[in-house]
Amino acid sequence: MPHERALEAPARPPLPPGGCAPHLPSVPRAVLFDVDGTLVDSVDLHARAWQEAFAHFGKRVPYREIRAQIGKGGDQLLPVFLDEEERERMGEWIESFRADLFQREYLRHARPFAHARDLVRRVKQMGLRAGLASSAQREELEHHLDLLGVRALVDAATTADDVDRSKPFPDVFAACAAKLGVDPRDAVAVGDSPFDAIGARRAGARAVGLLAGGFPRDALVFAGCEAIYADAEDLLRRFDGSPLAPGEARAGV
Ligand SMILES: [Mg+2]
Repeated sequence: MPHERALEAPARPPLPPGGCAPHLPSVPRAVLFDVDGTLVDSVDLHARAWQEAFAHFGKRVPYREIRAQIGKGGDQLLPVFLDEEERERMGEWIESFRADLFQREYLRHARPFAHARDLVRRVKQMGLRAGLASSAQREELEHHLDLLGVRALVDAATTADDVDRSKPFPDVFAACAAKLGVDPRDAVAVGDSPFDAIGARRAGARAVGLLAGGFPRDALVFAGCEAIYADAEDLLRRFDGSPLAPGEARAGV
């Protein structure tokens, strides 16, 4: 669908690097964290589950092509690899098979990134609200809340049940901000994929990228990230100069 393609590969970044959002807060009120690839090391696990699910239904897809799409929900990922007839015939079966397979075989191998919990705690210590902006299945998110030990720190979280359209649409970030009771323009999103940055910017939020999920720096900058960090630990270490902190100095790019 042309519209979806336009979301995946915008002709130009929503705003030029160094540009300012029309409503630029000096002090953000909330941080919207992506989970997979940002707080939890799970991108490769998701890619393997998708590849295995496609193969189970006779569809061979190269691993690297699937991996480059992780960060989208199934609603946005399936159209990349299946035509309309295939989606009608087996799209729901593949997604259901994948969800079950992931929870059965892969979820237990997911690990928190170093200092992921400390980063969320720092956000709370700074007086910001903390949200998890995810379109994962409810069971996966519950697992990750315990895995990360952030259940008491997180003020709101979204799952696939909260939105009809996953990233790169803005719905996940808009829903998460609404649950937090903040204007998305007063929030900073932290994610590992270009789909996070595109969705966040379309929702009106600012975007910070982490390289931990394996996406190229250029792709994150092009998608609208105003600062890039290696991982949660790096962002925590340089928190005071980051867009998450009061008086941010844009030190991450
Ligand atoms: Mg991610």
